[in-house]
Amino acid sequence: MEQSIIYLDNNATTALHEDVIAAMMSANALYGNASSMHEMGRKALAAIEESRRALGDLIDAPEAAIVFTSGASEANNTVFNLFRQRIDLGSSRKRIITTTIEHPSIIETANYLKTLGYRVDFCPVDRSGRVVMSEMEKLMGDDVALVSVMLGNNEIGTIQPVKEVARLARRHGAYVHTDATQAIGKIAVSMQDLDVDYLSLSAHKFYGPKGIGALVVKKGAPYAPFVHGGHQEDGRRAGTYNNSAIIGMGVAATIAKRDLAQEGARLWALREMLREGIEASIPNVVVNGSREHCLPGTLDVSFPRAEGESILLYLDLEGIMVSTGSACASGSLEPSYVLLASGVDIELAHGSIRFSFGRYNTEDEVRYVLEKLPSIIKRLREMSIR
Ligand code: PMP
Repeated sequence: MEQSIIYLDNNATTALHEDVIAAMMSANALYGNASSMHEMGRKALAAIEESRRALGDLIDAPEAAIVFTSGASEANNTVFNLFRQRIDLGSSRKRIITTTIEHPSIIETANYLKTLGYRVDFCPVDRSGRVVMSEMEKLMGDDVALVSVMLGNNEIGTIQPVKEVARLARRHGAYVHTDATQAIGKIAVSMQDLDVDYLSLSAHKFYGPKGIGALVVKKGAPYAPFVHGGHQEDGRRAGTYNNSAIIGMGVAATIAKRDLAQEGARLWALREMLREGIEASIPNVVVNGSREHCLPGTLDVSFPRAEGESILLYLDLEGIMVSTGSACASGSLEPSYVLLASGVDIELAHGSIRFSFGRYNTEDEVRYVLEKLPSIIKRLREMSIR
């Protein structure tokens, strides 16, 4: 099969859905400032409120306050800043618990707070990347202000027992946040059922535009703005509304809800087709993450004796776009912290590739990958001096 681009990096970001593009194009005519009292302002505001309803519907949060943000990084920072402020104001609860495999917008924020003297504990995860509940129980206490556990991991796709964590946290009077950015649109997410106080999401992971997301705040949960200024969002987040992005996110939310069951099953089938194909055609591979608690479109595989970045670049030459979990820190490649925290050994962590599927991927594309990948791994392993 002749291929130009096979995009298997949907956990990094997704393409805009065509209906989202159309809605955003017409939203450009709706340029009024949604805070203005005149007709143009009122029309923009009505469309924005419609998006808010669609988003609330998608995550089953009818009474929660949905605060539009620039994305999940801002939403996550808003929550941590809120609890930092509560500690500063003299709350007797002075500790925050999170996990070792959160997204950097949580881990780095937590580490930053630690450098300032705040107490943050990182709950360990098991080999499949799941929070170890017995460790969480040990960390829990009546001095805990906030527990923040992501719903689905961006790298290995592991789905966390957030509902269980929330139950435990409630018993100790702590508030609960979940970063649901990777789960939205892939699995059913009910904020009511999870019983969390705060939930972060980002439109560009479910075929909406980049630079827009939300922090969803349960009715009655404490809140303090991170961005101060105008009265937008009932004073919860200042800044002129980004009409077209918010409208695009609303349409993306409606589509995500409509297609959820069908797309979830389709993505899982593609993921399994690739996993089985890789295991059948390439010796000595390790599939990372959890088999039973995994986001449907995520497949993370380690290929011992082949460097992740080399695999990525060879696949790129074939028009196949994937990602590695490693980060380029000051010119050197650091192995994936998510895999290391899951107890994966350093060599396996260096040779990992994340394939992440989305709504535009097909079985033909999986076949093409399975045609190209085995020879790439073979060549790289032959070149390896180890
Ligand atoms: N959390 C998770 C789990 C993510 O995957 C991402 C995006 N990679 C973010 C937060 C950050 O989202 P945004 O790009 O909207 O800031």
